[in-house]
Amino acid sequence: MTEKKDPLFNKIALVGIGLIGSSLALATRKNGLAKEIVACARSQGTRDTAMRLGLVDAIYETPAEAVVDADLVILCTPVSTYDDLACAMAPSLKEGAIVTDVGSVKESVIRDVGPHLPDGVHFVPGHPIAGTEHSGPEAGFAELFEGRWCILTPVPGTNSKTLDLITDYWASLGSMVEIMTAHHHDKVLAITSHLPHLIAYTIVGTATDLEETQQADVVKFSAGGFRDFTRIAASDPIMWRDVFLNNREAVLEMLQRFSEDLSVLQRAVRWGEGDVLEDRFRKTRDIRRGIVDAHQAGTFDAREPDSTQD
Ligand code: NAP
Repeated sequence: MTEKKDPLFNKIALVGIGLIGSSLALATRKNGLAKEIVACARSQGTRDTAMRLGLVDAIYETPAEAVVDADLVILCTPVSTYDDLACAMAPSLKEGAIVTDVGSVKESVIRDVGPHLPDGVHFVPGHPIAGTEHSGPEAGFAELFEGRWCILTPVPGTNSKTLDLITDYWASLGSMVEIMTAHHHDKVLAITSHLPHLIAYTIVGTATDLEETQQADVVKFSAGGFRDFTRIAASDPIMWRDVFLNNREAVLEMLQRFSEDLSVLQRAVRWGEGDVLEDRFRKTRDIRRGIVDAHQAGTFDAREPDSTQD
């Protein structure tokens, strides 16, 4: 018989319960990591849905109510909201509480949240490299973080006990944990996540500007590659607006490099330089193989998704 471990936390408070918050609630419960899970959501509809789905033990309207007595507080809203939410919850945080987050950028999160937190409260920013293009509390699932990386970007002075506890938490959700500086995180994610989203939004936007007859054929023949971009370009507009507003420098730097590389390929197409094209395409295929070998490829399910989902 396997021995049942004690939960890591007595009470976890999720500030925001959309895709990531609801997945955390489900995964925390599935793995027995907290005695009590509560959340807050600004809209009544989200609060009703969270209770109907049994995601949490209690749900509140404000972060100040939700974080009372919580050992772990996880910010799970778009990053532009962090400043106000951290300010609102700060007076209710208990001594010794750990505050973390899941935001897709990290330097701005440290800038916005850190100054609000009282002495005696620990802060360990984090970012699970896991997600889908769906949003809201109904989109969550307990397995979202399994086999995925979670990056922690501790601030100077973080004690090792706190860092170990948060590392344990993510590992217990099935994630692999990597620790790096917020600056390094923002640069790496600019190329691996932020720029691909910007490119997808651009291509899909360009296609929608085509004449009507061409547009119909874009939809009809989208399996030619376009549909993979449409999945990424369906990601939440608010979340992604905030990413670009809060990781401006790193994204602009990567965009500059991308534009230069695109010009090289443009020139190769114009002048019929097949060897340039072939050489580049061979290198990129090797990158894809590396991602598959590292088990980070996910799946590209060719079946039709449920059209009732957004
Ligand atoms: P989501 O499904 O859209 O949920 C967002 C949540 O934030 C909802 O509970 C929403 O409440 C709340 N919220 C939005 N604006 C708010 C405001 N002004 N004040 C208070 N609450 C507000 O978003 P998500 O995909 O879970 O993303 C949440 C965070 O995770 C973001 O910081 C994002 O960068 C990060 N992240 C996302 C992914 C991904 O693939 N989606 C992956 C990794 C990390 P209502 O429902 O009541 O409006």
